[in-house]
Amino acid sequence: MRIVSFGPKGQEKPGVVHGDRVIDLTAADPAIPGTVRRILESEALDRVRRVLDKAESLPPNCFRPLSEVRLGPPVTDPSKIVCLGLNYSDHAAEQGREVPDWPLAFAKGPNALAGDGDPIQLPFGVTQLDHEVELAVVIGRRAKHVSQEDAPAHVAGYAVFMDITARDIQSREKQWFRSKSFDGFGPFGPSLTTRDDVSDPHNLGIWLEVNGRRYQSSNTGLMTFKVFYLVHYLSQSMTLEPGDIIATGTPAGVGVYAAPQRFLQKGDVIRASIDSLGALTNPVV
Ligand code: MG
Repeated sequence: MRIVSFGPKGQEKPGVVHGDRVIDLTAADPAIPGTVRRILESEALDRVRRVLDKAESLPPNCFRPLSEVRLGPPVTDPSKIVCLGLNYSDHAAEQGREVPDWPLAFAKGPNALAGDGDPIQLPFGVTQLDHEVELAVVIGRRAKHVSQEDAPAHVAGYAVFMDITARDIQSREKQWFRSKSFDGFGPFGPSLTTRDDVSDPHNLGIWLEVNGRRYQSSNTGLMTFKVFYLVHYLSQSMTLEPGDIIATGTPAGVGVYAAPQRFLQKGDVIRASIDSLGALTNPVV
């Protein structure tokens, strides 16, 4: 299933993709909670599946054409976004660094989240805006001290994530938080593809283009610390809540390590995709 949050920013409603349309879940079944996070918290994905199974018998007012709705972040209000640094061997190699012995985790503010098509604002004074495409893991069931073997049951699914970064701020400040947490620095989506539709999260092509030119092109198999290990590892220190996002790190090809360096400019259009998870297209304004 492909779960979405559709509608104007701040007023998104949960939906599920059915062909070229979105089913408005709360119109189809008023017992379904009004946000994707609350659907996950109340373990209501089975209810969503039942709506999808009876799609042909739903009244027309339950449908919206996919091409006509804004898709916001599939989870609009996670309690946290945990990001991984240096988690792809090709990205560590392009900066001449060793793959770390332990996962390098840092936070990105949930305020950074944006949907497919939403503009990324080049902040005043920032001169080194850069892109990172990442596989996002969305937590489905609360995770605290879970084993790697039990971790899959705590994952709701996957999406495409862009970890947009102001490199000039990142290098100037020892903490990475602010450089990665400007409003809109986290395009996410276009949908949450549920775990049952992704047979192996470590064998997916992952790429990113700027103005039609491909700069990042890799495979999630090059991840050093894998998805279910990360859920296990992070859950030893913090409770992972339904809707929380783990952004699992970016492969090679970011602008700051290109020769010559290359940064995002006003007017650029970024397109990022992961096999079977769809694509995000976001302009820089
Ligand atoms: Mg990143």
